[in-house]
Amino acid sequence: EAVNISACVEHVIETLKPIASERSVFFRNRVEAQNYAVGDREAIEEILSNLLGNAVKYIPPGSQVTVLMRPSPPHHWRVMVTDNGPGIDPIHFDRLFERFYRVDKGRAREMGGTGLGLSIVKRLVIKLGGEVGVEGVKPNGVCFWFTLRRLETPAKRSADDVDEELISI
Ligand code: ATP
Ligand code: MG
Repeated sequence: EAVNISACVEHVIETLKPIASERSVFFRNRVEAQNYAVGDREAIEEILSNLLGNAVKYIPPGSQVTVLMRPSPPHHWRVMVTDNGPGIDPIHFDRLFERFYRVDKGRAREMGGTGLGLSIVKRLVIKLGGEVGVEGVKPNGVCFWFTLRRLETPAKRSADDVDEELISI
């Protein structure tokens, strides 16, 4: 399935609008509208919904969440969800995608939730043939990223690209 990632981001932002405006968190969709991935729209929206939903939950009022997408050679996109919230201590990075793992038990409990969101994200990304990760952002904040198989438009395909991608959808 050819999936328009910018449209997915737009749709997820729309569904989160009530809670985001209540918490004064601002979204910026910087994904270029002409770029497509190979995947499953519902799964990709579920991934984005968890990552953007977490940002809304865990960053303070007035903060921003930016979604970007860059080529990740060979034949993938890297989607990046970056916020300028308090960030996460890197000692947690290794375990963050485990089921039921939550960072600050006290604060996280206040927010509700079960600690399953990121384990679901990881399972879905792997199922789509991608990778997932997290890194710190300077001066503060966190970037959750995942990769997706890139759908090339014929005009943009370079000579060394394999033909599998277009044939398999
Ligand atoms: P659930 O998603 O099941 O409702 P949850 O949000 O606690 O529960 P995860 O989505 O797996 O579980 O997130 C794990 C933990 O990572 C969270 O409890 C939170 O402490 C931390 N976290 C996730 N995203 C952010 C973020 N953008 N900024 C700061 N901390 C975050
Ligand atoms: Mg969550």
